[in-house]
Amino acid sequence: MYPNPHGQYQQQGGYGGGYGGFQGGYGGGAPPMGPPGGVSPDIQQWFHTVDRDRSGKINSHELQSALVNAQGKNFSDMACQLMIGMFDHDKSGTIDINEFQQLYSYINQWLTVFRTYDRDNSGHIEEHELANAFQQMGFRFSPNFIQFLIHKSDLEAHKQMSVDQFIVACVQIQRFTEAFRQRDNERKGMITLGFEDFLSVALSCSI
Ligand code: CA
Ligand code: CA
Repeated sequence: MYPNPHGQYQQQGGYGGGYGGFQGGYGGGAPPMGPPGGVSPDIQQWFHTVDRDRSGKINSHELQSALVNAQGKNFSDMACQLMIGMFDHDKSGTIDINEFQQLYSYINQWLTVFRTYDRDNSGHIEEHELANAFQQMGFRFSPNFIQFLIHKSDLEAHKQMSVDQFIVACVQIQRFTEAFRQRDNERKGMITLGFEDFLSVALSCSI
């Protein structure tokens, strides 16, 4: 139901062109030798490209500088913080090369998902494409809610989502859905939440 490493969306490397992703690319020359911990030379090369200050760690600002959407804009702060947070297991605010390898794969999966749902290849997910996307992910959202999601993501035009906005929306819905399910034991689609529990859900599911 959700994109995941074992699901139907397999990573397909090498998106250049219209779908965004890592920009810049390989600096040429031979890839580094002797990958530590099974990290491929390609990933090592990307890691060193993204790690601008050569700290050996990547923070959300470095990630942001490296990621562009189909509109040529850098991914949002929110998207980068969210993705770093997902792989930053020691909560240091940065990821190491092994975590980066997972993140790299994760981002490529999202690019694949995005491309699948961007039926008209506009580089954006429009309202009807978003409705279809969530339907295929197993959600039954009303047209009003789909519109709300688009409005929330696209504050300027209220018409469409870029890939980074799409990732944020999907991850947040995924997190809130999981929190809801944990409380909806009888699968009624309704839960009763105490105030503190409500706050806990909201604060832990937000970035
Ligand atoms: Ca760094
Ligand atoms: Ca589209």
